[in-house]
Amino acid sequence: MADVRADVVVVGAGVIGLTVGVCIAEQGLRVLLCTRSDPSATTSSVATAMIGPGLAPGYDPTGVRERASIEEFTALADVDGTGVAMRRGRLAARQPGPSLPGLEPCRPQELPDGFATGFWATLPLVDMALYLDYLVRRLHAAGGRIEHRELTSLRELATLAPLVANCAGLGARELVPDETVRPLRGQHVIIDNPGLDEFFIEAPFGPAWAGYFPYPDHVVLGGTAVDADNAEPDLAVADQIRQRCIEVEPRLRHARVRGHQVGLRPMRPSVRLEVEELDGARCVHNYGHGGSGVTLSWGCARETAALLTGQGTERT
Ligand SMILES: Cc1cc2nc3c(=O)[nH]c(=O)nc-3n(C[C@H](O)[C@H](O)[C@H](O)COP(=O)(O)OP(=O)(O)OC[C@H]3O[C@@H](n4cnc5c(N)ncnc54)[C@H](O)[C@@H]3O)c2cc1C
Repeated sequence: MADVRADVVVVGAGVIGLTVGVCIAEQGLRVLLCTRSDPSATTSSVATAMIGPGLAPGYDPTGVRERASIEEFTALADVDGTGVAMRRGRLAARQPGPSLPGLEPCRPQELPDGFATGFWATLPLVDMALYLDYLVRRLHAAGGRIEHRELTSLRELATLAPLVANCAGLGARELVPDETVRPLRGQHVIIDNPGLDEFFIEAPFGPAWAGYFPYPDHVVLGGTAVDADNAEPDLAVADQIRQRCIEVEPRLRHARVRGHQVGLRPMRPSVRLEVEELDGARCVHNYGHGGSGVTLSWGCARETAALLTGQGTERT
């Protein structure tokens, strides 16, 4: 470990740890971020990642965190090199449902066969490879350092800095340890973009749904959510993903398949964002974001920074 004192040690170089690192380093504190994997090998690198749609009520912690992130990502969409762009698209369901405040209902002819209801929304869509690179650059620009290191206990960090942020994602299961954290496997198919510029996502999420997300030169097809910790792509599942998406958007049929991605969402009954005293150091846990880590990242990072510096109070 580098022999330079840090004010804060952050565990994790996924979207949660990097965003916390940026928030704290930009306040002038010396940040050392420890990670066992490169950002490009984290769950975060696999996220689609659609931000929002921000339907949680504004009075609960998820709603507050989601809104803070939507605001930040919307601003980042105007900044070159972030990988964030605003995209219009449809959120649709096979069953009739209530209207959603703030969203424009689809007309019946705008819905694919088999769908009963849908809404138009314009949301930030994040190319995670570009975005994680951007966060690393921003962390370095603010003086933060990244060190590759596998940790076996949070207590070893208490000797390095008075403040610790635990953003270990699924790794929190062993590191804390916290047996309520479990992997929820998701798989994507990456194809050439045949000319799409609108996203589509089916709700509610079950074990499988249709969803496609266009980026300038490729489209990400999803989605699946299965209790499993196998990170190898399953080609039979990939074929089912493609078929579901082609039923919604026939232009996807002849697009060349570029590759496959699998990620393990760090599920927990609820996000853990709270303070724990750790052998004289103040540790703030920020993990367990499930399928919404990118959407919650800025809101949770600001709360983490405030709790670390003693300026915030825990939300229940
Ligand atoms: C298929 C799929 C689609 C998704 N789509 C979306 C979406 O559209 N919108 C959205 O908001 N979210 C989405 N998500 C969820 C999102 O990806 C996660 O919630 C988020 O990436 C979690 O980030 P994290 O930083 O907590 O974890 P990770 O990205 O897994 O990072 C954890 C970090 O901790 C480090 N670490 C762990 N243990 C140790 C240890 N012992 N020692 C050292 N380092 C350690 C790891 O090396 C890594 O750097 C999706 C996820 C998947 C799988």
